[in-house]
Amino acid sequence: MIAGILKEPTGEHRVAFMPEQAEVLVKKGITVYIESSIGNSAYADDDSYTSKGAEIKSRYEILSNASILFTIQPLSAIDIELLKENVVLIGIYQPFSNIQLIKELAEKKVTLFSMDMLPRTTRAQSMDVLSSQANIAGYKAVILAASFYPKYFPMFMTAAGTIAPAKVLILGAGVAGLQAIATARRLGAVVEVFDTRPAVKEEVMSLGGKFIEVEGAADPSAAGGYAVEQTEEYKQKQHQRIADAAAKADIIITTAQIPGKSAPVLITEAMLNAMKPGSVIIDLAAATGGNTAKTINAQKIKYNDVTIVGDSNLPATMPADASKLYGKNILNFLQLIINKDGQLNLNFEDDLVKGSCITHNGEIVNERVKALI
Ligand code: NAD
Repeated sequence: MIAGILKEPTGEHRVAFMPEQAEVLVKKGITVYIESSIGNSAYADDDSYTSKGAEIKSRYEILSNASILFTIQPLSAIDIELLKENVVLIGIYQPFSNIQLIKELAEKKVTLFSMDMLPRTTRAQSMDVLSSQANIAGYKAVILAASFYPKYFPMFMTAAGTIAPAKVLILGAGVAGLQAIATARRLGAVVEVFDTRPAVKEEVMSLGGKFIEVEGAADPSAAGGYAVEQTEEYKQKQHQRIADAAAKADIIITTAQIPGKSAPVLITEAMLNAMKPGSVIIDLAAATGGNTAKTINAQKIKYNDVTIVGDSNLPATMPADASKLYGKNILNFLQLIINKDGQLNLNFEDDLVKGSCITHNGEIVNERVKALI
């Protein structure tokens, strides 16, 4: 079997496999094709791949010959034209926002596994690219905030006087939010946290954060633990608690997302007007609309004296570690679809294979995606 690892589009510095992960495929007897310079922006040169047994080919040769192709970002329409029937694609395709692309892949008889659609079960943890990348985003959000914040994070008691610790407000305590709490605490900040899922309160407290309580949240259990839409009454109460906390905060990290929907606007214009000069917001939900009224995706702006950074692709700013973790996630997933002899073996009885498969045999097969059409 031929496996292809493709270069990512401009602006994406990660790569789907680092050299040592490509080597795992080679050792299974799989021929591995790579494009020249695929790992350059993740600090892995061509020699580091070829010394592990990968072969350098043109993008055209890879797209038209491989039986399985690995990327992080979706392939372009031009790439898709070149694919063989029944080729397996693995990447992050965000099908809820890319329905037209998904239809094209189905028509092309591609078998697509979109790693962001993998069920978030315990068995899936080692393959969960959303978690491995969100962990990086949460860490980097705090480091970025600290670099733009014109004051100290920790408390200092010096002969020249006492510096109060920074107050960090984190909205959304999923994987990114929890890592942001841990990182901000390590830097010495005082951390307050809000999430619509009351179940995260204990995790927040165990990391040293203070949980902002709002009574009457909708039960998220039917949504597999993901956030769900809340009642108007709840939203009013939540609005007031967040407004109070935002006015006191020096740093706000927002991570609140609802899968398949626009991100909720949690920091309104009025809240921004009440924020302290010099304060910093890092909005990780920027790509789905942002959690503040003024976020612009992929931009750093100033609103009054508040710096607002809209960035949902922070993992790409730590490409070596992000790629290593992504590649390891994919290798773990491959154990479900490639047998001991290095051949594809798709078992749709497996909930992880079924849950992450979007198109197969000329059809859209994923129930959650089909429900949107
Ligand atoms: P996410 O990126 O989808 O959302 C981030 C956080 O924002 C979530 O905690 C969500 O509850 C919160 N949020 C949504 N709307 C909000 C609002 N209006 N106000 C405040 N907060 C709001 O989340 P994620 O990090 O991908 O995790 C989603 C779920 O999956 C969690 O229950 C998590 O524990 C679970 N999970 C399971 C596994 C696993 O077992 N494989 C791995 C990772 C995550």
